Amino acid sequence: MFDYQASPDLLQGRVILVTGAGDGIGRACALACAAHGATVVLLGRTLAKLEAVYDEIEKAGYPQPAICPLNLETAAEKDYNDLADQLFDTFGKLDGLVHNAAQLGPRTLLDQVKNEDWLRLMQVNVNAPFALTKAMMPLLRAAPDASVIFVSSSVGRRARAYWGPYAVSKFALEGLMQVLADEQEGTSEIRVNSINPGATRTAMRKAAYPAEEPEKNPEPADIMPAFLYLLGPDSRKVNGQALDARG
Ligand code: NAP
Repeated sequence: MFDYQASPDLLQGRVILVTGAGDGIGRACALACAAHGATVVLLGRTLAKLEAVYDEIEKAGYPQPAICPLNLETAAEKDYNDLADQLFDTFGKLDGLVHNAAQLGPRTLLDQVKNEDWLRLMQVNVNAPFALTKAMMPLLRAAPDASVIFVSSSVGRRARAYWGPYAVSKFALEGLMQVLADEQEGTSEIRVNSINPGATRTAMRKAAYPAEEPEKNPEPADIMPAFLYLLGPDSRKVNGQALDARG
């Protein structure tokens, strides 16, 4: 596992937005951030799941989170700008942005992928993170040292057959990360990096490997040290890096 011991108050006073915060790795990330003192903005498409995470955070006595129900497949530029306005009015800044939400899409030969499935996947996995990042830039600039994380995949660094648009979308995210990181280098206090979670026990992993024993893989909570490291001040000078949550 990524070797990092986060101090209990690592993210005190920070505002961190996590996409896909209702389930899997995003849920674990939201809970870990809140447990380390952050005010978390829970973005996702299923309100009931976001509310369940909200309740968990409140019950634990962590900073009160905010809920933002948004379907990244249909969200338009105005939705992202409205969200930025709301966050600006409420918090005045954004210290962390975790692009975690994604879909697996069809895992088949590329020439059997339906065009509409390709487009849907690119909308959620690539276009939405681009549009959300763009809208959040003024808020990220308003934070003393903001961190943007793109959640990638091993097939976004070395593609494999049958991983279809998902693999291509993760390559695009790595490209988005590199361009943005290079643009911010020396010109702002924003750092931009990617994390490959590695095999993790979630619904997406189950869908990708239905025959696998789930217990073989770590829980989402186990892979949080890499996320906490990149979101906290210890990674202030780390920019443009592709990290592995499993070390
Ligand atoms: P997951 O359990 O399927 O969770 C995905 C999250 O994304 C869910 O909260 C889901 O919301 C949200 N989401 C999907 N479509 C959305 C949309 N249109 N609008 C808003 N939110 C949407 O998957 P996971 O395994 O935690 O994956 C998290 C990240 O890790 C992804 O980027 C994935 O590619 C990456 N990853 C995972 C593994 C692994 O082994 N698990 C390995 C490598 C990379 P709903 O619950 O409401 O559908």
